[in-house]
Amino acid sequence: MRFYFLGILLLLSPFLQAQEKYPQDTFQSPLDIPLVLAGTFGELRSNHFHSGIDIKTQRRQGLPVLAIADGTVTRIKVSLWGYGKALYVAHPNGYTSVYAHLQKFGPEIESYIKDIQYKKQSFEVEVFPDYGELKVTKGSTIAYSGNTGGSSGPHLHFEIRSSVTEKPTNPLLYGYEVRDATNPTLLGLYGYPLSEDAVINQSARKIQLNFTKQPDGSFLADKINAIGNIGFGFNGFDRQDMAANKNGVYAVKQTVNGKVYSEYDFETFSFGETRYINTLIDYAHYGKFQQRIQKCFKEPHNRLGIYKTLHNNGEITVKEGMSYTVELLISDFKMNQTKVVIPVEGKSEVPKIPRADSKTENFIIANKPNNFDLGAAKVYFPANTFYKDFYIELEKGQDTVAIHNEEVAAHRNFTISFDASKYSGADKKQLFIARLDDRQKPRYSKTFKRDGSFTTRTRTLGTYTLARDTVAPEIKARNFKEKQWLSNYSYLSLKISDDLSGVNSYNATLNGEWILMEYEPKTKTLTYNFDDKILDKTQCDLKVVVTDNVGNSSTFQSTFFRK
Ligand SMILES: [Zn+2]
Repeated sequence: MRFYFLGILLLLSPFLQAQEKYPQDTFQSPLDIPLVLAGTFGELRSNHFHSGIDIKTQRRQGLPVLAIADGTVTRIKVSLWGYGKALYVAHPNGYTSVYAHLQKFGPEIESYIKDIQYKKQSFEVEVFPDYGELKVTKGSTIAYSGNTGGSSGPHLHFEIRSSVTEKPTNPLLYGYEVRDATNPTLLGLYGYPLSEDAVINQSARKIQLNFTKQPDGSFLADKINAIGNIGFGFNGFDRQDMAANKNGVYAVKQTVNGKVYSEYDFETFSFGETRYINTLIDYAHYGKFQQRIQKCFKEPHNRLGIYKTLHNNGEITVKEGMSYTVELLISDFKMNQTKVVIPVEGKSEVPKIPRADSKTENFIIANKPNNFDLGAAKVYFPANTFYKDFYIELEKGQDTVAIHNEEVAAHRNFTISFDASKYSGADKKQLFIARLDDRQKPRYSKTFKRDGSFTTRTRTLGTYTLARDTVAPEIKARNFKEKQWLSNYSYLSLKISDDLSGVNSYNATLNGEWILMEYEPKTKTLTYNFDDKILDKTQCDLKVVVTDNVGNSSTFQSTFFRK
C-alpha cells in the first residue's frame, strides 16, 4: 500500500516526493530579510556544484545571521580561501546548518575562537567543539554576514547538510520561500554525434541547433537529420524574482517519443562526486568559451548520483527512416518549466564536417598511468587522471613545458617535475614553478624543492615554467603614521602585497607579543582589532614580518602611542 502511494506521488511530481522527506516548519530563515538569491543549490561552478544557496545581503556586510533552530556548534573554520569564516551548527533532527563568508561570529563564539587563535598564534584555524559546548537557540544571532574567503561580493552562503553523511541538500526543500515566477532561460542548444558512425546535419562534430519560440512559450528546434547514437545539451540559467542574478536550474528531463531517457535534479549530491561536474558539462566548450553546456546524456566516466532516470545513458539511437521527437524540460525549483522540442529524422548523410580527432605522437589511455619525459620536466599522470582516452599535445621549451590545453579536464592531481640541477643554490631559492594564465602571467604553483628537482601537483592542464621571484613583499601602513597617537582608533590596518610568487605567511607583534592580524587577500589587508587588548604600555612598537612563497621576507616596524 505504501509503495503504491509513493508510486502515485512519483507519477504526480518527483518534486513533491522529494519535499515529503524534509521537515517543512522546523527551520527559520538565517537572515531577517526577504530571501533573494545570488546563487542556487547545484549551480554549476568551477570544478564543483554549488552546495548551498547564496542569499543576497543588500550589498551590505554585518547583517545578523540567525540560528535556524536550536543546536550546538560542531565546527568553526577560519580560512583565507573557500568559505572564509564559517560556522557549522548541528540540530537535534539530524541536520547541520552551515553559514559561510561571515564577517565575524556572535560574541560568545567570537571570543571562543579568538582564544584559540591566540593560543595557536594563527588567524587560520579549524576547531570542532564538543557536543553541547557551544549551544545556540533558534533565532539567536550566531554571526554577522560578510564577504570573507572566496566570495566576490557580500552575501551569506547557507547550507543544510545531513549530520550523518554530510551530504548537502537543497535548502529550498525545507519550506523556505523564494519568489520565482519566471521560466528558466534557454541560451543555446547543441547536438552531439556520439558513436563513430553518428552524424547530425552532415556534421560528425557537435553542432549548435537553431530554435524558435512558439506562441505557447515553448521552443521548437529546426528539424535535424541524424544517424547513429546522438545526444543533446543546452546552456541556460534561471532567474528568480527581485534580482537579476543568473542562477542555476533545478531539474532537467529529456524524453524521446514520450519515454524518459534522462532526468536529474539538484535535490542533493555528495562532495565526493562534485568534481564529476566536469563530465556533466561540455568541458572543452567551457575551456574555449567559458559557457557551461549541460549534457542530457551521461558520459562513461560520469559517476554522478544525481540521475533519477536513465535510459541508454540518455543517448538516442537514431535509425534510418525513423522519426523521433526529443523533448527537454528544464525546470526551476518552483517548477516553472521551459520546454524544448527537437524533431529528429533518421537519415544517413555523408558528413561534410569530419570528427575532430587531431592525432599527436602521444596517446593517453585514461585508465593506465602515463609518463612523459619532456626534457625540462617529467610529467606523470596517475591512472584515471582523465575521463577518456585522447591524443595529448605536449611541447617542450627552455624550462617550460606545455601540457595540452585547458579544454581537457583532469579529475586527479598529476605531477610535473622540473630539473633545476643546473642552477646555483641562490637561484634555486628564488625559482618556483608557475603556470601561465590566459594572459601569460605566471601564477605560483605550490613547489616542492628537493635537491635539483622541483615538483608540483596540479589538476590544471596548460603551460608550466620556472619563474623567479627576487622581490620581497611590500608592507605599508594604511590608517596610521609613525609616532602617531591612536587612542581613538579601533583598529590598525596595513596593506601587504607580493609581486610574483605571492604572500605565504605573516607574523605580527606588539611590544614583542603576538597579535592576531586578520588577513583579507582580496583587498591585501591586514587588520588588528584593539578590542583584543594586547597592550599594556603607552608606547607601542609594532613589528610585522611578511614572507613570500620562495622565502623572500620583509619587516615593517612602527611606533605609536595609545592611552
Ligand atoms: Zn555560495
